[in-house]
Amino acid sequence: MYVYMGHMKFEHTQPYENWFWKKNRIDLKFGFVQSVDTNNKTLHFSEDDSLQYDKLIIATGSKSNKFGWPGQDLEGVQGLYHKQDLDNLEVYAPNNKVCKRAVIVGGGLIGIELAEMFHSRKIPVTFLVRENSFWDAVLPKEESAMINKEILNNHIDLRLGVNLKEIIADDNGKAKSVVIAETGEEIACDFVGLTAGVSPNVDFIKSSNIEINRGVLVNRYLETNIKDVYAIGDCAEQREAIGQRRPIEAVWYTGRMMGETVAQTICDNRRSYNPGHWFNSAKFFDIEYQTYGWVWAQPKENEARFYWEHEDGNKCIHLNYDKNTREFLGINNFGIRMRHEFFDKILTEKRSVDHVIEHLADANFDPEFYKLHEKDIVAKFNQENNTKIQLKKKSWKRIFSPQI
Ligand SMILES: Cc1cc2nc3c(=O)[nH]c(=O)nc-3n(C[C@H](O)[C@H](O)[C@H](O)COP(=O)(O)OP(=O)(O)OC[C@H]3O[C@@H](n4cnc5c(N)ncnc54)[C@H](O)[C@@H]3O)c2cc1C
Repeated sequence: MYVYMGHMKFEHTQPYENWFWKKNRIDLKFGFVQSVDTNNKTLHFSEDDSLQYDKLIIATGSKSNKFGWPGQDLEGVQGLYHKQDLDNLEVYAPNNKVCKRAVIVGGGLIGIELAEMFHSRKIPVTFLVRENSFWDAVLPKEESAMINKEILNNHIDLRLGVNLKEIIADDNGKAKSVVIAETGEEIACDFVGLTAGVSPNVDFIKSSNIEINRGVLVNRYLETNIKDVYAIGDCAEQREAIGQRRPIEAVWYTGRMMGETVAQTICDNRRSYNPGHWFNSAKFFDIEYQTYGWVWAQPKENEARFYWEHEDGNKCIHLNYDKNTREFLGINNFGIRMRHEFFDKILTEKRSVDHVIEHLADANFDPEFYKLHEKDIVAKFNQENNTKIQLKKKSWKRIFSPQI
């Protein structure tokens, strides 16, 4: 995203300097694995060569979802996942002369990032979102409404509650328009971004005897059904979900934790994967978002909520807690930064929502000179809950805890 927007160079996205691999005796082989022969412990590449392994770790990530839309494979139609997708954006949407309008299909995290990317190059965007409010299967309605407004404030033509029917080609087999299923409206465009989610990139495994469902099935040790074959990251699917987590989690930090875990195992220190408390973060145009613990789109039966929103409508926090025990269960914060370590500790120690409110100053992680809203938040909480909580002064000391 930030490479296209000119904030970074591609080299800045590489995890290590190019000399790192050789120095650490890691052989990089560039090639596309076409099939896996687990009986002979051999990988077969598309270039007709092969490689034998003692242990195999499958970490092939995701691919963009396509749902069989007519025209989904035309030129100028693509997802946003791989480096090749980024390269193709420079071909089909380098500026608003070549690309007079882009249509984005699918309102999730990648869709909104693609919208921001085009916006940075002044390319008009129509954003087709199937749901009636942005990402409302994940976000509670208040946060979802805030992001709808943010999208519109950035001059994106947001269409809620609509589906793509088809993509129409010009005489050269390139996308020239899309048709909306509900209304039949045809929208002229030069680029179509397919961002209706991702799924595990495991097609090349289908011919092997490694068991797959949506992803490569693994146990808590990230082992597949075949000895010496493991799977980690976006392409791995837990046979049994861990707590309330989804069996496939396509986020970078869980992928990293899985990598650290499997590294221990293949070095004869067999470890189970323990991802700890759920957290995530993203940015929706100018609004930063973090979540710690669980704040579902709809509260569960035992849950109660506290919501505070700034009068400007671009900052909010949403706390979720058990209405019987008052145990804190999770927080969403938008436009206010909150400290991961703080909430991780609160969740582990099963503290109450009242404790969180009392120590909000410790939770805050905004940069210097940002306006603080803790007093406002505490006052609203006291008013709604009939409590007399006093905000404690900041006392947080950074702690370092191991990841796994
Ligand atoms: C636009 C975008 C924004 C995102 N933003 C966030 C975010 O804000 N926060 C977050 O937590 N996550 C985010 N993600 C998700 C995050 O990038 C992924 O969860 C993470 O990269 C997964 O890591 P991985 O190692 O499992 O797979 P990947 O990083 O996808 O790596 C897979 C690798 O396998 C290679 N490969 C695939 N098939 C084969 C084959 N057959 N043979 C050889 N090599 C193959 C690919 O070329 C690639 O190099 C974002 C993703 C995208 C696309």
